[in-house]
Amino acid sequence: MNRSDIIYDLAVLLGCEALRNEPLNRHTSFKIGGNADVYIKVGTLSKLSAILKECRESDVDYLILGNGSNVLASDDGFRGVVIRLDGDFRRISLADDNTIYCGAGASLASLCKFALKCGLTGLEFGWGIPGSVGGAVFMNAGAYGGEMKDVVYSVSHISPDGALGRIERDDLELGYRTSVYRGNGCIITGVTLKMQKGDPGEIRAKMDDFLGRRSDKQPLDYPSAGSVFKRPEGAFAGALIEQCGLKGKCHGDAQVSEKHAGFIINKGRATAHDVKSLIREVQTEVAEKTGYTLECELIIL
Ligand code: FAD
Repeated sequence: MNRSDIIYDLAVLLGCEALRNEPLNRHTSFKIGGNADVYIKVGTLSKLSAILKECRESDVDYLILGNGSNVLASDDGFRGVVIRLDGDFRRISLADDNTIYCGAGASLASLCKFALKCGLTGLEFGWGIPGSVGGAVFMNAGAYGGEMKDVVYSVSHISPDGALGRIERDDLELGYRTSVYRGNGCIITGVTLKMQKGDPGEIRAKMDDFLGRRSDKQPLDYPSAGSVFKRPEGAFAGALIEQCGLKGKCHGDAQVSEKHAGFIINKGRATAHDVKSLIREVQTEVAEKTGYTLECELIIL
């Protein structure tokens, strides 16, 4: 018996949706990735605690996936358990006039819609970022001058040893595409956001504007994981890549987008191997021709 099967059996016993040998290309926006031994949707904190405890005791690796919109999953898949937060973790509620509590498994899109409905401003930048709220905090997602840092007040989590905890805004170390969670192994379970009252018409108009700019500039009709590289100090990754003549460059079915050179798209059957070798070529060419080092924003699992 594979050790991951112990977790599969427990998840089924707990009434979670659990799948064996689940292709990760079904759960990543790149549509790339081999099979995970086990994939589980977990809907409550007590079930999540029980599953993590069993993973620890049975020495099974686990990986938390949000919407899979910033990751490159391996062609070999994942040996262990992939966990997706569902059910209770998707709930969003208004705690007081300008405070929202949101489960980490909710989509950023549903949180933006909720904020609009409540007439709260500050999250418009997130409209069109295809992540979950947990993934957005983990990455400190941002766009058009806004970032999660502007609205996050505190974050609840469960630590690798099973302890429940909360980190307040000032200790979250929210920086350019990073947070304290990138290094501490905790699973983000929920987020409290403090926002300002705003005019719903203006909030809506801003959201529409940002979404329009995205579809004008980004290759949204192909699978991708958004911008592959971080913005280097004093330059734009896409412009440097274009300057080096790499727009349209392919490795297998992975291509530097013709529409936005900061994106790599999957033209059909791209593998993680294709994407990684294209990334290496781009990094080498850009370093040689411009002197800039391009660091990955994309998380390579
Ligand atoms: P995933 O990709 O699932 O995971 C990312 C990392 O977060 C992984 O290491 C994962 O383990 C970790 N993680 C996820 N959930 C949790 C949790 N609950 N607890 C602990 N760790 C967790 N990003 C931007 O910042 N700005 C943009 O404008 C933007 N535009 C994009 C456009 C497109 C078309 C695409 C495809 C992507 C874009 N992205 C952008 C990237 C991506 O959407 C964001 O980084 C998003 O926040 C990732 O969230 P996710 O839920 O998909 O995370």
